[in-house]
Amino acid sequence: MILDFHTHNQQATEAIISVMPQEFDPQQGKRYSVGIHPWRSQQVTPAMLDALHTAVRHPQVAAIGETGLDALRGAPLPIQQSLFQEHITLAEQLGKPLIIHMVRTSQQVLKAWRESQRAVPWVIHGMRGNPRVAQPLIDAGFYLSFGPRFNPATVAATPLDRLLIETDDNTATAIHQVAQAIAQARGIPTQHLITTVTANAHNLLPQP
Ligand SMILES: [Zn+2]
Repeated sequence: MILDFHTHNQQATEAIISVMPQEFDPQQGKRYSVGIHPWRSQQVTPAMLDALHTAVRHPQVAAIGETGLDALRGAPLPIQQSLFQEHITLAEQLGKPLIIHMVRTSQQVLKAWRESQRAVPWVIHGMRGNPRVAQPLIDAGFYLSFGPRFNPATVAATPLDRLLIETDDNTATAIHQVAQAIAQARGIPTQHLITTVTANAHNLLPQP
């Protein structure tokens, strides 16, 4: 069962644990996503890319990322875009979904989607944008993953079958607290939300 769709806490269970390629050290029974974070896009080495290409093939790696585009941090956008493209290609080759970090780059992410094969699900993680940013992503078929900080109107506008929850790098908030807050914003019982996001994760991830 996957409840927390994106965490950097390697101790987590019922979660997709997101790591950089050189950190990947699979523990029994856990599932991971591996990618080069856009904040690290300035320091990419050939060894890191080799490690990425090897790690993503591991059966315990359920998704590719986090990857994506950040207009406020990391390398200049063209460099981030070519690194993002590398992850998109791997995701499509391996049939594993993409976990995307998106900061003030929704137009560029949507453009990358339109130019991609659209063969695997794309998940925007840590979604904080308003409904105006979210709607074109929802229309394009993206999943939206919400953490402790979110825009309630965006949660309310997200179809239940496209909704995921996460803790990301937040150690102060438990995933059940996130579930409670999102359920409240969505106007449904917490248990219904938990059942729904678990089923969504199950549907979009490759079967272990
Ligand atoms: Zn993260």
